[in-house]
Amino acid sequence: MERHREVVLLLGAPGAGKGTQARFISDVLGVPHVASGDLLREHRRLGTELGRAAQAYMDRGDLVPDELVIAMVMERLDRPDAERGALLDGFPRTRPQAEALRAQLAERGGAVQAVLYLAVPEPVLIERLAGRWMCGHCQATYHEQFKPPRQPGVCDLCQAALSQRPDDRREVVANRVEVYLRDTQPLIDYYAAQGVLHRVDGHDTIERVRAALCAALGGVVHGLRRDRWHLYLRHPRAVRGNGHEAWLGRTLCGKYVDRDGNRVRGTLTEFWAASCRDCLRAVQGSPVDREAAPKAPHSSGEALGSSA
Ligand SMILES: [Zn+2]
Ligand SMILES: [Zn+2]
Repeated sequence: MERHREVVLLLGAPGAGKGTQARFISDVLGVPHVASGDLLREHRRLGTELGRAAQAYMDRGDLVPDELVIAMVMERLDRPDAERGALLDGFPRTRPQAEALRAQLAERGGAVQAVLYLAVPEPVLIERLAGRWMCGHCQATYHEQFKPPRQPGVCDLCQAALSQRPDDRREVVANRVEVYLRDTQPLIDYYAAQGVLHRVDGHDTIERVRAALCAALGGVVHGLRRDRWHLYLRHPRAVRGNGHEAWLGRTLCGKYVDRDGNRVRGTLTEFWAASCRDCLRAVQGSPVDREAAPKAPHSSGEALGSSA
């Protein structure tokens, strides 16, 4: 069994919508979503050796060193549910971490297959994050722009005065975004140089961002029977036994599997102009039925692009 073949990284500034999209990507790829922040919390809670070591650094007010973080990430990727890969979120943050990840994956015969960068203009990020207000009495939340209270500074529900968390103040938010973008640029350059970086426009509706993410993870391909375009996920299945399980990818709707890579390719514009109904439904939010996805060799999916 080949391991860690499809490690996908998700990058995006605070406010870029990473959380919303992470769930979708891990669902459609059928791989676990591994968030480094959650891992660290899990290890500390369970009091593992790694967790205790990390805690000692944090108690001293120091940063958790890279070796510990990478050890936690690799321990997670070595668990059985990540055998076919994982979506990594929040790691790596720096170029040395990226190099360490690359070396560790290479030892296991794997690699970072794709880096998805959710790009959102800085003023939009600040607008999304700043301006949140909360009612200290009933905990109702408001947003200056997206969900303003009827009367400024007053809760609609209980008429108490609204207040703002220090973290949600505009100048604090602007600084967080700026620091993220500055610190992440070397990582973006690093992966761009390796040809695995996909910049996806995150300043769009959720369904259009989802479609763009799928296009980055594979592309847009033409169906065989109808004049429709499908979202395509490059997601190789390991060759086993007599080789019948080998395939290179499948459409999001699961109608077609790709065995020879000889598919007719299109663009997102073509997808939106004549989309497969089921692919469209999948990006619009109905959960993708993983059971419906073809499972070679007993596949109901047709070979794509071949004359079969
Ligand atoms: Zn209230
Ligand atoms: Zn489709």
